[in-house]
Formats: sequence, structure tokens, C-alpha cells
Amino acid sequence: MLIDAGPTGSKKTLEEYLQKNNVKNLDYIIVTHNHEDHIGGMANIISNFNVGKILMSKDISTTKTFENLINAAKSKNLKFTNISKNETYEFSKSQFIILSDGNNTHSNINNHSIVIKLKYGDVSFLFMGDAEKEIEEELLSSNSDLKSNVIKLGHHGSNTSSSKEFILKVDPDSAIVSCRKK
Ligand SMILES: [Zn+2]
Repeated sequence: MLIDAGPTGSKKTLEEYLQKNNVKNLDYIIVTHNHEDHIGGMANIISNFNVGKILMSKDISTTKTFENLINAAKSKNLKFTNISKNETYEFSKSQFIILSDGNNTHSNINNHSIVIKLKYGDVSFLFMGDAEKEIEEELLSSNSDLKSNVIKLGHHGSNTSSSKEFILKVDPDSAIVSCRKK
């Protein structure tokens, strides 16, 4: 499974990383939201790997990057799976649940991020996309089981996400920040 594909400028790095790790098939691709730093490398991945399902929200974007993604999927006859909150998916020995499906009226596109919790054996991972505090509040009040061993922090670890209440609830052992080297 691949969650997002980084910016266009890193598409070769991502492709080579997957190849080096002997990845040929991606059962699932999750497009958390349509910002360039998440979908820039996606058309290249779709074109060069065997892809099962592409999960994304209903958001349409008018950018060239988004168009490239759609065209790459179309040329391989891939369909998009529109996801809904609380759906669960299985693959190999893991399951994941959609905690936030991005189909909402927030004006901030970051809050359209698909948020999933994945379980692999006893280990759980919370992938936040770029979701910000508004979504964290919704998750807190939804009574979802948020406790996770590992969290991929929302919005690149910036202070628009990761409120104290939320992190206390998730109670992770490790946190991953996706950001650029300075
Ligand atoms: Zn981002």
C-alpha cells in the first residue's frame, strides 16, 4: 500500500525506493488529498507499478498535477474507489479503517485528508495526511479508537495539527514527521 506520492520533484526518488525494496504491486493507493506535495509523484507510480485500488475523496482539483493523476489511472483502466468513514479494508495480514473520508465542507483542503488507522498484528498506525486540529477535534468527539503505536503526524508536524488533547488520546510510542531537509 502506498499513501501519497510526494511532490513531482521527488518522483524518481520514490520510484527507485520502491524498486529497491522489490515492490512491484500496490494493492492500495491512498490519495489523502490533492495538494502537489502529496500527488506530484502519483501519475508516475500509477504508470510504473501494478495498482489494485485507488482510494480517494470526492474532491476534484483543476491543477495539471491532478489531471496527470487522473489520466495515468484512465490509461490503465483503473477505477477510483470513493471511500466512506468507518469502512474497513483488508490486505495481507493487516486491516485498516477510514477514520476521516475527506468528504466534508471544510474550506481548508488539508482537512479533506483521508485519515486511516492500520493494524498489522499487534501494531497500529495512524496516518493523518495533512489533517489539522479541526479534524482532530472531530475524531476526538467521534469516539473512534485512536490509540496507536505509531502516528504519522498531520500536516508535516506543523503547529496547525497535533493538539495536546489529540496526542494524549493517540498516546503513540513513535511519531513520524514528513518534511524537507533544510
Ligand atoms: Zn502536505
